[in-house]
Amino acid sequence: MNLNIINLSKKYAGVQALSDFTLEIESGGVFGLVGPNGAGKSTLMKILATLVTPTSGSVTLNGIDIQKKPNAIRKTLGYLPQDVAVYPNLTAFEFLSYISSLKGLKSGDARRQINDLLAIFHLSEYKKRRLSEYSGGMRQRVGIACALLGDPQVIIVDEPSVGLDPEERIRLRDLLCDLAKTRIVLLSTHIISDIESTASQLAVIQKGRLVFHGTPKVFTQNTDGNMETAYLHFVHGGLPA
Ligand code: ADP
Repeated sequence: MNLNIINLSKKYAGVQALSDFTLEIESGGVFGLVGPNGAGKSTLMKILATLVTPTSGSVTLNGIDIQKKPNAIRKTLGYLPQDVAVYPNLTAFEFLSYISSLKGLKSGDARRQINDLLAIFHLSEYKKRRLSEYSGGMRQRVGIACALLGDPQVIIVDEPSVGLDPEERIRLRDLLCDLAKTRIVLLSTHIISDIESTASQLAVIQKGRLVFHGTPKVFTQNTDGNMETAYLHFVHGGLPA
């Protein structure tokens, strides 16, 4: 699997959210995208999910242009947006069943996958409760389960650990690492520790531009392996004294 982002730019009325952004992402390990709030991460994710049209540039999945053929990515995409919208009056099982039908899963298959995902995210015993009764962290886990329905080959998660407790973060990290062995997993965050022991490749975005792309080892080669310091360096253009 190969996702190729070529000279991507996006301008909203007066705001240059992405500028000439070029990056190649492959399966084989979690790809971390880090940058401060407002850097352009969500804009990039939304373009990859074909929800936002770029002003210029292109994206190809395995060589197919996703603007020209959006189904090339839509059919195989698991996308967790920043603010997961759930229907408060549905139970987790009903909500996931509804999303399964939108994704075109057969009912037997859907039921099996939903039960598996509910078990992975420790939600089985709450599956008949309405989502309005769920905590923020539980709702976030439903959102992640929702993104993983249909066994997507491209998984894009925007700030996935928001609202999760430390144990849940570790569980999610391990799951994403496992999935990334054979799929593209792009994890976006403004919290560097979220990708510290997860990402095999990382990109740093600042004011819509790519300021670093490489392995965590190269990223931290001047900071004795310290990610936080390296991040400050790339974002602020200078190592703290
Ligand atoms: P991040 O996800 O890194 O926080 P975003 O992609 O959400 O960054 O935002 C990048 C920039 O684009 C910010 O300045 C933001 O205010 C602006 N922006 C994002 N979405 C819109 C929009 N729909 N209309 C106008 N400006 C937007």
